[in-house]
Amino acid sequence: MHQGSKPPIIWLNVFIFTSSLLLALVATPLYAYYHGLGAEHWIWLLLTFSFCNLSITAGYHRLWSHKAYSAHPALRFIFALGGAFALQNSALHWSSDHRVHHRHVDNNDKDPYSAKRGFWYSHIGWMLRHYQSSACNEYSNCRDLQKDNVIMWQHNHYVPLALLMNLGIPVLLGVIYGDIIGMLLMIGAVRLVLSHHTTFFINSLAHIWGSQPYTEKNTARDNGILAIFTFGEGYHNYHHIFENDYRNGIYWWQYDPTKWFIKSCSWFGLTTKLRVSPQAKIEKAKALMLRKKAEDKIATLHNYHIVKEHLEAEYDALIERMSEYYDSKKQLLDNKKNSLSKKYELAVLRVQHKQIKRQFEQQKKAWNSLVLSYT
Ligand SMILES: [Zn+2]
Ligand SMILES: [Zn+2]
Repeated sequence: MHQGSKPPIIWLNVFIFTSSLLLALVATPLYAYYHGLGAEHWIWLLLTFSFCNLSITAGYHRLWSHKAYSAHPALRFIFALGGAFALQNSALHWSSDHRVHHRHVDNNDKDPYSAKRGFWYSHIGWMLRHYQSSACNEYSNCRDLQKDNVIMWQHNHYVPLALLMNLGIPVLLGVIYGDIIGMLLMIGAVRLVLSHHTTFFINSLAHIWGSQPYTEKNTARDNGILAIFTFGEGYHNYHHIFENDYRNGIYWWQYDPTKWFIKSCSWFGLTTKLRVSPQAKIEKAKALMLRKKAEDKIATLHNYHIVKEHLEAEYDALIERMSEYYDSKKQLLDNKKNSLSKKYELAVLRVQHKQIKRQFEQQKKAWNSLVLSYT
């Protein structure tokens, strides 16, 4: 049959994805039915699944692709092992692809897993054929990572490491618990399939399903449900605009275990230099999006120009109050740090700051109810 101009199939990847899926969906339930599975199979499934996914989200993604923080060599070594276990190529290769994804997001010719090419392509299709030219494999966008010994060690020994982790760990657990086949199925196949597809969801579903509170410039979405399966990476709309932030879910109530993990590690000195985007920038992006959405809604109103003028005036007032507030907050913090500043000066600043804060909150309330009435 004529294949048209489609690039050749990567048979190794096709084999890995289909065989692990068949083992997980067909062989494992049959084995469980005839031989039974113990609590140890499920507990180790959860532990190894978390190990793989956290190595990808905290290691490959936020540490290496985005430099959102620095990590102790011991932690980097653990991420390198977990990444090989997750079977998603070396951290160097993964990060290189991912940096291109951010730089050329949704560009069907350049983004390696462009969501504009559809669900299947962005989820798994992009790995099944030689879509990328060999020029992409020079890793020229990852010169910084090439100086990391752990990265290069993992990259140069990726195949034996991946085999050791994917076969060695299940077999070792099988020997300990006296069920090698059961552990190979649960920790080998089921864990791998779960880990693969939950990570792949970030490239597919997180660019299709959810809200866009921060930007409309790309297809990335915020989705709290996806965050549960992806260790917090479901807040992808935020991530695509503030990519160097070590958090993806920025509010305390947003489920982002990767963020909690990185933060907890910092208490033990395992992670340092955690980067966060300035709150003022984040709030501004949000306000701008709300303004855009409201403008779209009022476009058909007969008194469009009057309403638009009002909306713009309220938006401008909000931005002004916002920058006043963050400026005064910074001034107060600087003064607190400076031990020379006098007590009464600080007290005056505090009173001023309180007032500015109240004004900002009032304007925020007015703005939110105005926008809400239009959207
Ligand atoms: Zn993305
Ligand atoms: Zn990213």
